[in-house]
Amino acid sequence: MSKAVCARIWCRLPGNPAWTRLFMADKLLRFTPRVVFFTIDTSMIPTVMKFGGTSVEDAAAFGNVTAIVKVAAASRPVIVVSAIGGFTNSLLQSVSRACSGDARGATRSLDKDFERHLTIAKELLGKEAHAAFVSTIGDARGKIRQLHRIIAAHPVTSPPLQDEIVAYGELLSAQLLAMVLGESGLGARSVDARSCIKTDENYGSAAPRPETAAATNTVLMPLLQAAKIPVLGGFIGSTTRGVTTTLGRGGSDYSAAIIGAAIGARELQIWTDVSGVLTADPRVVPQARTIPVLSYQEAAELAYFGAKVLHPKTIQPAIDQNIPVRVCNSRAPKEAGTLIVSESGAAPQTVKAIAHKNGITTVQVTSARMLGAYGFLRRLFEVFDQHRTAVDVITTSEVSVSLSIDDTSSLEALRSDLRELGTVEVEDQRAIISVVGEGLRSTPGIAAQVFSVINDINVSMISVGASSVNLTFMVDQAQAAIAIARLHQAFFEARDAGVDDEMTQVRRGAPAVRDPEEVVA
Ligand code: ADP
Ligand code: ASP
Ligand code: MG
Repeated sequence: MSKAVCARIWCRLPGNPAWTRLFMADKLLRFTPRVVFFTIDTSMIPTVMKFGGTSVEDAAAFGNVTAIVKVAAASRPVIVVSAIGGFTNSLLQSVSRACSGDARGATRSLDKDFERHLTIAKELLGKEAHAAFVSTIGDARGKIRQLHRIIAAHPVTSPPLQDEIVAYGELLSAQLLAMVLGESGLGARSVDARSCIKTDENYGSAAPRPETAAATNTVLMPLLQAAKIPVLGGFIGSTTRGVTTTLGRGGSDYSAAIIGAAIGARELQIWTDVSGVLTADPRVVPQARTIPVLSYQEAAELAYFGAKVLHPKTIQPAIDQNIPVRVCNSRAPKEAGTLIVSESGAAPQTVKAIAHKNGITTVQVTSARMLGAYGFLRRLFEVFDQHRTAVDVITTSEVSVSLSIDDTSSLEALRSDLRELGTVEVEDQRAIISVVGEGLRSTPGIAAQVFSVINDINVSMISVGASSVNLTFMVDQAQAAIAIARLHQAFFEARDAGVDDEMTQVRRGAPAVRDPEEVVA
């Protein structure tokens, strides 16, 4: 049994992760009003395990999850689970249908998904648990029907009602998984994540509030002390008034990180359908391979710039509490996956991965008034702030600023306000490509290599050096796949093949480049 001495517990507030560890202490050594010394059996520190939608898409997938949790049962797992694969999309579509006035059609459109839940329950649950789950589904159906009717009668998009409906995805999967785990002898308990994750009222993209840590500990600690396995739905939370919210698409990773930080988890595991973070998006580069170790900074940059395997907000809570993050494959649990820690070291070729994000719009503002003036950039960013539009990449010259955005819902309003500052040009259908690796800023020649393999592709908005691990640029979306394939070949495949004149070969036209039209990105 490994033991660690924990010291200097400065904070006496329940909810602070250090305080949580005190709950798990097996021996109190000495304490003063501000400092507590105690020993802790490190195997008693919980691990948060998050399973994504594809890891719970059918009965076989639930079976894989059960096997994985069984192996981890001794390490005090806390389970966070997404809605079953595809259900969130169906729930959102049902809301749009209800908004168009078709409440009955909206509810009916979910029949198949409810049936999928029932099929899983029938296959994996005993009689009693199955009956209980059938009634849970009946209740959910009834409540969703009512909500669809309300929306259809007041056909204005209602973000709180949408979140209320969408939350059923995670609420049902958590209840089902807890029952399935219980059926195989594990002491699992379904926990309503809305009682743990307290958020602001930004429906559809809510942010956690500080009281989340205390609320999470209050709910989870008694269960962990009683050696139960809490099972929470990811993605969902509630306001201080108890209204349901969601954290944004793909937000279950973020939920798991928030919960991990709140309880001071030993490790955060993201179980998905690929073996870790790969050198590129496998839908664009099928031969992409697992990156064994990434730093928090590398992982965060990859996630911001499109590596869907991690929600972009996942890394910050892990950094805050220095929690290692492991990305693993629920379909191949023995494969090593990726470990994300504070420092990873540089790869021999410096570049560790290539991320990309399609559907980007660039906005260029040109004005001679900018020349030598101060205050111009402040006014420019105020416009984006006013229209609540996040900017990803920025490049500037003496008289113009280029910015990239991926949310174009306020584009017309933005354009009209920006015209007061200068001439505005907008280009859509762009893609950001981001080459990421520790040591990138300080290694000579990387930019030359990157741009020489894509020297026939028009690039713009090159940003290098702003982050020490990232080189970012923009291409036309139709050319993104070809650019990524060439970069992958140059930095990973050609190196492995030991080809001397790899860069020349790649420049000449390169094998392994797929027609961009074929690529679903
Ligand atoms: P989950 O349902 O488990 O949350 P996601 O679909 O959100 O899974 O994320 C996993 C998917 O992310 C993979 O199937 C893969 O297609 C995509 N992906 C994009 N870029 C990367 C990358 N660099 N490494 C791994 N997966 C990636
Ligand atoms: N179910 C939610 C979604 O599909 C959250 C998640 O899976 O992470 O976006
Ligand atoms: Mg995901």
